[in-house]
Amino acid sequence: MVFNTLGRRLEVFEPFNPPLVGMYVCGPTVYDETHLGHLRTFIAFDGIKRYLRLAGYDVIHVQNITDIDDKIIRRAREEGRDWRELADHYARSYLEVLEEVGVRVHYHPRVTEHIREIIDFIQVLIDKGFAYVAPSGSVYFDVDKYIYYGELSGRRSREQWRQEEEFAAEKRHPYDFALWKAAKPGEPWWESPWGRGRPGWHIECSVMSTRFLGERIDIHGGAQDLIFPHHENEKAQSEAALGVRPWVRYWLHAGYLTIRGEKMSKSLGNIIPAREALKKWGPRAVRLWILSTRYRAQMDYSEQALEEARELAERLSRAAQLVSRLARQLGPAHSITDKELAVARKLTRDLKGFHEEMAKDFNMSGALRHVRSTLSTIFEDVASTTNSALALLALDNLRAYNEVLGVIDEELSQAHWEQAIPLDQLVDLIVEVRSELRKMKMYQLSDAIREKLMKLGIRLLDYKDRTEWYIERQS
Ligand SMILES: [Zn+2]
Repeated sequence: MVFNTLGRRLEVFEPFNPPLVGMYVCGPTVYDETHLGHLRTFIAFDGIKRYLRLAGYDVIHVQNITDIDDKIIRRAREEGRDWRELADHYARSYLEVLEEVGVRVHYHPRVTEHIREIIDFIQVLIDKGFAYVAPSGSVYFDVDKYIYYGELSGRRSREQWRQEEEFAAEKRHPYDFALWKAAKPGEPWWESPWGRGRPGWHIECSVMSTRFLGERIDIHGGAQDLIFPHHENEKAQSEAALGVRPWVRYWLHAGYLTIRGEKMSKSLGNIIPAREALKKWGPRAVRLWILSTRYRAQMDYSEQALEEARELAERLSRAAQLVSRLARQLGPAHSITDKELAVARKLTRDLKGFHEEMAKDFNMSGALRHVRSTLSTIFEDVASTTNSALALLALDNLRAYNEVLGVIDEELSQAHWEQAIPLDQLVDLIVEVRSELRKMKMYQLSDAIREKLMKLGIRLLDYKDRTEWYIERQS
């Protein structure tokens, strides 16, 4: 079950094309460092994606980068920097933060690389009568033409739709919003059929989500404050241009991160940069802390909660090492005592409970109760066992939990754990040296290296400009 913002109710999760799930999450506007409030949203959706995978779906995850926007232009001007250089800098920093906390996204589309597609999309809206060109060369969405406006945010009266009032003089209605903004002097611009300008904010997500996920999306996510106007506008544009309804099957919104009860935001001056928190607590504790609250609940920043998350991460790490070792060392079990069977049942009950909680709109706090219970079982009962069945069951529990939590990958990866040396980097290094030998036409030596690696089970494939390597499977 997932809680759909559209309709504000729990619904059974049924993607358009199972087992595929297309998920689009609104990413950052890159004019400053990523802060903990942003990270909360990104890690929350990472948890959702990972659980869906555990439940058997294949999720394609798109998270855009807004690299042209009023805020970027303003900041660049204030600092006397080139706006592109500024956006590149913060985009890189954002990607590094995601990498550090283990959020792997398939596509990170950037607005400035989709200007042509955006212009085409706006043209469709004009052709279909949903948008109009103002005398300045700006293009606006004509909200009155789209009869479902307000449906997502629950704002039913036109009075509640007012937005972008600085353009009131040239808009047909105070609630119309810009699709294309005519360039003001000194601002970046691109050529368009309506003159020089740049995209408005909302259109990018309609365009880029269509490009990477097709005309219908299973999950559209973002922080709660994007519901209006951003997502309301995205929905209006997409359903109008694409002629599909619903464009998005499930609208999911992450709750706010507050600090002493106030939303973390730049305007309130109470932000904590993600890097600062990562440095102080480490990526595993930050991940676990954020994942310990259900994605749509509000969560308050607390050092005590982070300390608890750090302890939990350590316990998970120790438990994983303990049961991995037991599973390797203990031979197959021929029998099981009643007491051992009772422990086994406890493990199975917790695994089932974890799945049940996650299936209820990703109830992480409920699911974590079962994780903690498994840890107690491991340290109290499994640690002293001589029965491999218990170690294997406990390992399965931890593997399932970690599919969502993503904090003990290394402990659970046998190859990694048994070999302290990073195999990948070692083979990469050998391949690199061999490529240099080939460039120097020392083919005898490079062939010998290939033969020797082959004997170790590593196969090299030479292409014109690169070499790939694979580990040969025995069966
Ligand atoms: Zn968006």
